Amino acid sequence: MTIENQVPSVTCGTHGKQPQTFVCVHIIESVKEGEAKGFWWSRSEDGIWDAICNDCNALSQEAFDALGADNIKTICLGCFEDAAALNEIELD
Ligand SMILES: [Zn+2]
Ligand SMILES: [Zn+2]
Repeated sequence: MTIENQVPSVTCGTHGKQPQTFVCVHIIESVKEGEAKGFWWSRSEDGIWDAICNDCNALSQEAFDALGADNIKTICLGCFEDAAALNEIELD
């Protein structure tokens, strides 16, 4: 049993059924473009990964919140790992 089993899953065209993760839209763009834009990740107590790019990380909490829900997208854990690898980040 891993904690991932409790995380809601998403079905990805590339990776199949995977735990969901949350990233800013810029990270999705960076994967599409193959260009590293930073990857500041964290993991919530319920095991859900999230990550934001350098630009979003540089914003104040207020400025980040002002971007609203459209700035954050759900992607699968496989895509999340691809984005981390693009930025040469190793996830624990
Ligand atoms: Zn961003
Ligand atoms: Zn995927």
